[in-house]
Amino acid sequence: MEHTDDFEDVCRICGYSDGVSFREDGWPVGTICHCCGTEAGIGDTDLEQVREIREHWLRHGAQWWQPKSKPADWDLQKQLANVLPQWR
Ligand SMILES: [Zn+2]
Repeated sequence: MEHTDDFEDVCRICGYSDGVSFREDGWPVGTICHCCGTEAGIGDTDLEQVREIREHWLRHGAQWWQPKSKPADWDLQKQLANVLPQWR
């Protein structure tokens, strides 16, 4: 999978990706992450904020916003590894 600045389909907070884009042409498209519940463009525009929200989410047990979307074999560490390097 290739990532550019113009298109993102990986959540900056938690690394969740189900093919839905969070950003197109560099602009957030109002997608709410099914995993951490963060809306692209609101909580994820600067690195400090991204880290803070991720910390908060992890500290509260990494709860799913849409539990129905949670895969049976979900692996938190694997998902976090998907977070783009500039948002870790
Ligand atoms: Zn997320």
